[in-house]
Amino acid sequence: MNAIAHLVLVCLVFGFASPAAAQLGGLLNQGARRAKQFNDFRWSNEEKAALGQQVSELVRARYGVVQDAAVHKYVTLVGTVLAQKSTKPNLPWTFIVLDTDAVNAFAAPHGYVHITRGALALMRNEAELAGVLAHEIVHVTDEHTVDALKKNTLKGAAAEAAAGDNKLIEFLADAAYKNILDNAYSRGDENSSDRQGIILINKAGYAPQGLGSFLNTLAERNKGATEKRGLFDSHPEMAARLERLTASITKDALTSTQDLSARFTGAISYKPVPQAQIATVAGGSKGLTGGSTSKASGQSKAEPEPPAEQPRKRGFGLSRLAKGGGSESKSAQVVGSGGARGLDPEKDAKGGSNPALVAVKVSPADIQAFKKAGQLT
Ligand SMILES: [Zn+2]
Repeated sequence: MNAIAHLVLVCLVFGFASPAAAQLGGLLNQGARRAKQFNDFRWSNEEKAALGQQVSELVRARYGVVQDAAVHKYVTLVGTVLAQKSTKPNLPWTFIVLDTDAVNAFAAPHGYVHITRGALALMRNEAELAGVLAHEIVHVTDEHTVDALKKNTLKGAAAEAAAGDNKLIEFLADAAYKNILDNAYSRGDENSSDRQGIILINKAGYAPQGLGSFLNTLAERNKGATEKRGLFDSHPEMAARLERLTASITKDALTSTQDLSARFTGAISYKPVPQAQIATVAGGSKGLTGGSTSKASGQSKAEPEPPAEQPRKRGFGLSRLAKGGGSESKSAQVVGSGGARGLDPEKDAKGGSNPALVAVKVSPADIQAFKKAGQLT
């Protein structure tokens, strides 16, 4: 049983300890009648903050957090430079490095940006990191995260609401979390995040080629894959996507040049783990065997064989956690490389065992010094 996820559930159902949660709960408690209006609802900042925090906690519980302050400080500096040039510089931006070999990045409402250790391992310079962070930052600032929730949740929410208020509340938090794991944005939102993202990094002084350069590496990695994975989910087809990025560099007159590869390799030393070697977890739980034994080593040990008919379970929702009691420990089988078993090595990758945020303090002076050293603006 995951304590944090459980706490979130308890807070949602009974607690309403904060004004934001109270407001959210008040809204949702009106049940079926309200669910029909859900799609038109305008979220307040407090509600977005409550939702973003809850969803980030689920993501962190799923993949674990790299307990390395230096890595978090570096990613936070790059992210903060960009966030300050975004359309919402005053959100409480939080940059989190997830402890998994999977290559992915996730945004949650109200300033949460998660990037995986595996994604950092695949990058070659700071402009590539900036490109991915900026793409996620635009998902937040342009509220794609909230839109995806509305779009994908309305129908189900109405059905759940009919079953009772508590079911609706569980459903909502769970749906937001699954949307994020599935990158459930519209293609229009993805294209917009790509274009606005590289405009953003260019504004900060980074070479706008950063995003495309990383996506090229990712395309190479995914060459043998038959299904879309991770960052590919619902993203525009890669060739067309790269063409659009190149066109935008010309059309939007993006001429910045910093890629800062030396600074990047000085801060990030992870080595990518081939997809075939990524340990996966059936049943959706974080790996209870936990830990990050493969961290920075480039090695990923094969794990013991699971029972023959381990079913693929999607989602690890609050409802299951709420009812499951001890069931998680039984279902969370680490099954080694997942390809042959229908698991997606990126999405179903094993995660680390520690979901705690790593506190990072970045002062205005730190940011100034960071920008100056990198000749950023
Ligand atoms: Zn995206």
